[in-house]
Amino acid sequence: MQLTDDVFLVGGGNLAFNLSSGADCHVYIVRSGDELAVIDAGVGLGMDLVLANMARDGLDPSRVRSIFATHYHVDHAGALARWRRLTGGRVHVSTGSAAAVEHGDENAVGLAQARKGGYYPADYQLEPCPVDVAFEDGDRFPIGNLQLTAIASPGHCNGHTVYLLEGGERSALFSGDCLFWGGTIILQNIPDCSIPEYAATMERLAALEFDALLPGHLTISLRDGKRHAETAANAFRSLGLPRQAVQL
Ligand SMILES: [Zn+2]
Repeated sequence: MQLTDDVFLVGGGNLAFNLSSGADCHVYIVRSGDELAVIDAGVGLGMDLVLANMARDGLDPSRVRSIFATHYHVDHAGALARWRRLTGGRVHVSTGSAAAVEHGDENAVGLAQARKGGYYPADYQLEPCPVDVAFEDGDRFPIGNLQLTAIASPGHCNGHTVYLLEGGERSALFSGDCLFWGGTIILQNIPDCSIPEYAATMERLAALEFDALLPGHLTISLRDGKRHAETAANAFRSLGLPRQAVQL
């Protein structure tokens, strides 16, 4: 499903369009010239559907040069190893996520708790994935003629990163599970979810300029995406909390 000149949505689960496995986050493809990049891998249970969606959009998986995850929760990072095997693309995650991804650490990524909570099948296992690039806050990556900037955004969990895409017909923020339509967020009862870090992150996001808000789940804004960051930042500024995007 083509969203902009440069961005396609090829996977997504029960919290939006059911393009692939019910447990998938939004799986985005950025295209510039001959080069493709994946933004968030999905859970790995619906890869056949993801690949069928790519084929329908004329996207060749062998053109994927880079694979990025916003964070290590398995609806976003569970399929990293499969994408890497399938495409030969280089896997990029933040330094704060790299160890958990490389070791397939089910406790660090919250899988043990999420499985108990009924979010994933009882036999779902996280496949460890080699990390080709462990990046720092502010690192920039070319995708064809476009630029992708990694922006540290802890709060939802440790090592969370949002990505700002610039250089195309419109800019976009891939906000993972940090910021959703309507200025909503996702707080979870997990050890690495932090309200003060979330509030500081939202100030950073509210200071960015971008057109489209492309979150990890739920509704997408193709224009005026920045307003959602302002709404969430205002809630934190008034010492409250933004609304939950999903009632857990
Ligand atoms: Zn998610």
